[in-house]
Amino acid sequence: MSGQLHPPPDTTTALLAVPPWLTHPIFNPEPDFYAEVSMSMVHCRGCGQAIHESASSCPKCGAVQFGPAPTSASHWMALVSLVLSIFLLLGSLEAEAVDTDVLVGTYVLGLVSAGLGAVSLHLKRPGQSMAVIGITLTVLSLLIVHGNTL
Ligand SMILES: [Zn+2]
Repeated sequence: MSGQLHPPPDTTTALLAVPPWLTHPIFNPEPDFYAEVSMSMVHCRGCGQAIHESASSCPKCGAVQFGPAPTSASHWMALVSLVLSIFLLLGSLEAEAVDTDVLVGTYVLGLVSAGLGAVSLHLKRPGQSMAVIGITLTVLSLLIVHGNTL
C-alpha cells in the first residue's frame, strides 16, 4: 500500500467550473471599481467627479478636498444671541417695576444670549458682528435691569 491511487477525474468540478468565456472582461466590468465606489469614494467639491476619500485634491480638476467645509447655517449662535439681546433690551427698557421673576428671567436670557455670542466668537463662526452686538446689547440690558432694581 505504498502508492496512492490517482483520484479519478473530477467531473463534478469540471461541470460546475465557470466556462472560460464567462470570465471574459466583458462580463466582469472592473469589479474593483464597484468595490471601491461602495467603500470610500466621495464626490469632488469642484467637479463632482468620484474620487477616493483620502485624496487631498481632485485628480481631474485639482480642487482641494480638505479644509473647512462650507457651513451656511453656522451663524445661528450669533443670530440667536442678537435676537435675544434685542428682546432683552426692549424688555429692560419697558419694565418699570422689576420684580424677582423678571430679574431672574433677564439674567437667564442674558446668560444664554451672551454665552451664545461668546461661543460664536470663540469658534470664529460667521456673523461675528452680530455676536458682538448681541453681547453688547445683553450687557446693556442687564445694566438697565440691574439699575432699575436698585
Ligand atoms: Zn474635481
